Amino acid sequence: MPGWRRARLTERTDQTATGRTLTFEVARWPGHLPGQHVDVRLTAADGYQAVRSYSLAAPADTDRIELGVQAVPGGEVSPYLADDLPVDAEVEVKGPLGGWFVWTPEEPGPLLLIAGGSGIVPLMAMLRARLASASDAPCTLLYSVRGPDEVWYATELDSAAQHTHIRRLYTRLAPADSERPAGRVTKLDLPPAEGSRCYVCGPTGFVEHVSALLLGAGHAPDQIRTERFG
Ligand SMILES: Cc1cc2nc3c(=O)[nH]c(=O)nc-3n(C[C@H](O)[C@H](O)[C@H](O)COP(=O)(O)OP(=O)(O)OC[C@H]3O[C@@H](n4cnc5c(N)ncnc54)[C@H](O)[C@@H]3O)c2cc1C
Repeated sequence: MPGWRRARLTERTDQTATGRTLTFEVARWPGHLPGQHVDVRLTAADGYQAVRSYSLAAPADTDRIELGVQAVPGGEVSPYLADDLPVDAEVEVKGPLGGWFVWTPEEPGPLLLIAGGSGIVPLMAMLRARLASASDAPCTLLYSVRGPDEVWYATELDSAAQHTHIRRLYTRLAPADSERPAGRVTKLDLPPAEGSRCYVCGPTGFVEHVSALLLGAGHAPDQIRTERFG
C-alpha cells in the first residue's frame, strides 16, 4: 500500500457546535470500505508532525473522502482540524486502514449499529452504503448522544428513518417527545439478538458498556465488532 498522500480540504460543514464534516480531495484515492479509517498527518513549519486516526464517513466516491471530526477540548489535532485548517490547505492521509470494523452490503443478516457521540462517523458510512444498496437485511441504528444539540447528520437520519429503524438515546437531556427518559444505554434499549452483526463505536467506556450489554443479551462474541475513539 502506498504511504502518505496529499489531501486538500475542499469543504467544512458544521454538524454540531464542536463537530465538523471535512471533505478532502485525494488524487488517485484507491477507494475504501464502510467502517475503514485513515491516518491524518499534520506537519508544522518547524517539521514537527502529529498523526491521528479519523474514520471515513461515507462510502467510496472517486477522489473525494469525507471525515467527521469532533473537537476534543485541549486536544492537539482535533480542534485545529475542526476549526482552523483553511479550506484549500493540504494535509497528508494514509489509508484506507482497518479490515475488521468493516461492513459491506453483500453481507447477509441483520445489522445492528450502535454509536456513542462522534462514534456515529464510521457507522454513517455503513448506513449510507446500506441505504444505497439493494440489501434488504434489517438494519437498526441506536445513536446515543448527550442531548438533541449533539446529534450529527440530523436531517439525513430523519430521512433514513423512513427506510430503516433509527432510535436516538439521550443520556443527559431528552426532548419532550423522546420515547425514553435520559440515561445511558441499557439492555432494554437493545433489539432482540436475532443473529445480528453488531458494530459499536464511540468512547472506550461507551464501547465496553455496550459490548457487555450485547453479550448479556445473547449476541455471539464473534458478531460484535468495536472501534474505540479514545
Ligand atoms: C480507529 C480510530 C478512528 C477514529 N475516528 C475518529 C473520528 O472519526 N472522529 C473523531 O473525532 N475522532 C476519531 N478518532 C479519535 C482521534 O484519532 C483522536 O484521538 C481525537 O481527535 C483526539 O485527538 P487530539 O489530538 O485532538 O487529542 P490529544 O491531544 O491526542 O488528546 C487530548 C486529551 O483528550 C483525550 N482524548 C483523546 N481522544 C479523545 C476522544 N475521542 N474523546 C474524548 N477525549 C479524548 C486524551 O486522552 C487526552 O487527555 C479515532 C480514533 C481511532 C483510533
